[in-house]
Amino acid sequence: MKDFTLEIYQTLLQELLKAKYEFVKMEDYFSMPLNPQKKYVLMRHDVDRSPLNALAMARLESSLNIQATYYFRTIPVTFKSKTIKEISFLGHEIGYHYESLAIAKGDFEAAIKDFEHNLYRLRVLYPIKSIAMHGRPASKWDSRLLWEKYNYKEYGILSEPYFDLNFNKVAYITDASRSWNNGAFNRRDKVESVFEFHFKSTQDIIEAIKNNLLPQQVMFNIHPEHWAKDEKQWYKIFFVRALKNSIKRVILHR
Ligand SMILES: [Zn+2]
Repeated sequence: MKDFTLEIYQTLLQELLKAKYEFVKMEDYFSMPLNPQKKYVLMRHDVDRSPLNALAMARLESSLNIQATYYFRTIPVTFKSKTIKEISFLGHEIGYHYESLAIAKGDFEAAIKDFEHNLYRLRVLYPIKSIAMHGRPASKWDSRLLWEKYNYKEYGILSEPYFDLNFNKVAYITDASRSWNNGAFNRRDKVESVFEFHFKSTQDIIEAIKNNLLPQQVMFNIHPEHWAKDEKQWYKIFFVRALKNSIKRVILHR
């Protein structure tokens, strides 16, 4: 059976619901009181590209009454107003997946202007309260450094997960580079945490949920572009990813 299909994603969601996890959007997690007895999932999606894959995922979640947070990059292939609006109308939160310091190649003043400008563009569509850095493995600039000089809270932003979440309390599970928590292909999309998982497949995660092995709070970071709606799309994603990962291997290990 193929992994990274919308079908298996649906099973993952259903198992989380069965295990009594409550799905909470980032803006709510940081603005409402949480019940310490309850189990929570922060379903986070970094929309690096393929907004239509994001929409398909958003529809699936909404059909299960699940709300997620979609962090959008603002590059032309990703910033599609109509799709962003549609996803928000399904009940999901829109966040800003910024990469300003990488775009400005380390020029802090140009970077904060880029951040302000794109935050404004997104806020025309949704009252953005959540941001998350886009890792850009090929760039030497880590956009999080912007916040050594500036303060995102002054922009009405409630959270940037890399700074505001305690990953010793909230387990972090990511499909970055289309494999689960695989640091080998990740330059920046990883966190310091007491939790260590060795999931080889989505099915492994499903088994862990069934066996009650996940902690009480979990953030999933799932990239919609990795998940296929049918066989044709699956092969396309598979081959593009194999190529990208081999390029990344060269970049990260040179
Ligand atoms: Zn990203």
